[in-house]
Amino acid sequence: KSVWQKGFLESGAPKEEHFEIKESELSGVTADNQPEEDGAVIVEVRYMSCDPYMRGFLKSQGRPAEEGKKIVSAFVSGIILASRNENWKVNDLFGGSLPLSTVQVVPAKAVAGLWNLSQYIGEESLSQGIGALGMPGSTAYGGFIDVLEPKEGQTIFVSAASGAVGSIVGQIAKNVYKCTTVGSCGGQAKCEHIKSDFGYDHAIDYKSIDQSGADKGAAELKAKLKEAVPMGIDMYFENVGGIHFDAAMNSLRPKGRVAVCGGISGYNDKDGPRQEVDILSLIYTAQRIEGFVCTPWLTGQQGNFLGDMSQWIKEGKVKVEETTYNGVEQWATAFNSLFENTHRNKGKVVVKV
Ligand code: NDP
Repeated sequence: KSVWQKGFLESGAPKEEHFEIKESELSGVTADNQPEEDGAVIVEVRYMSCDPYMRGFLKSQGRPAEEGKKIVSAFVSGIILASRNENWKVNDLFGGSLPLSTVQVVPAKAVAGLWNLSQYIGEESLSQGIGALGMPGSTAYGGFIDVLEPKEGQTIFVSAASGAVGSIVGQIAKNVYKCTTVGSCGGQAKCEHIKSDFGYDHAIDYKSIDQSGADKGAAELKAKLKEAVPMGIDMYFENVGGIHFDAAMNSLRPKGRVAVCGGISGYNDKDGPRQEVDILSLIYTAQRIEGFVCTPWLTGQQGNFLGDMSQWIKEGKVKVEETTYNGVEQWATAFNSLFENTHRNKGKVVVKV
């Protein structure tokens, strides 16, 4: 079974009707269930990720509309069923970016891109391969440690603080780097949750802010930040954009750093997300705004992401929280929940195949 997208959606939230599940025969397999190609493996996907960046798949960007298209690059984790690759054996646990298909033959050239999770987790924790020990975890790790360059005792503001990335940024900041942490999320219940479960010192409910006027919304959010941390913030981990970016920039201390990870509040806009920056203020305060993608940490080119993160999880410094949607048929519902009805979710949203 595979997840296919149907057509394009330039603006608005992605819904169930924009995707469908199709079944097909597996090709490239011998009569005794081995990969035909030397170097290939056959995998069973146990967990499929849905991540905010996938909203971009639905934007046509000038491409002609197609009837349907299989989703061929998404983060998944699972188990090796058969192998003709000397680096992989049956029952090894893997994570990686592959098509959203429940069982598949991974061609030899794509096998090198999989990461072996067997030394870090057991089968019961495979969901972490698309979360804390996968793409979102590496994003939190790289963005916080290398982009923000934290110093002990500094103050960080994190938006989308209850989600896959934000929940981990907050915990590394608090429990490893001894920072003061302020998180923003939607609703009072989530605010209580990020304080009790992820150790945030302060939580701001951005949904309680009137956002009908961007300037007014940003000013209100800035006031809430000031109430929480009167001396301002040293770092901002940007996941959302819009009023969050503006309020954070206006609360950032001299030499402050901003890691631009995402801008989910603008993903459903045709041309979003976009932001204005006060160049002169940036110059005179020697502040730094830096965008990044997770790849160097995920692929081991930078840092020791898998080693450090698995250790912090074992030591209880990073608590893993996931919201599970059961069955590949639930994938589109899970994806929609990143943008609408978000109150259901805590931590990483995972689809258990
Ligand atoms: P989440 O699991 O946190 O899901 C998205 C969350 O965003 C929702 O739960 C919701 O939380 C919040 N949200 C949705 N719409 C809005 C809105 N309009 N305003 C404010 N908050 C909103 O996602 P991730 O943790 O996986 O991703 C967080 C960000 O990081 C995204 O922008 C994503 O694109 C980015 N990212 C970037 C990567 C990189 O390499 N640069 C890699 C991975 C992620 P709530 O209920 O609190 O509103």
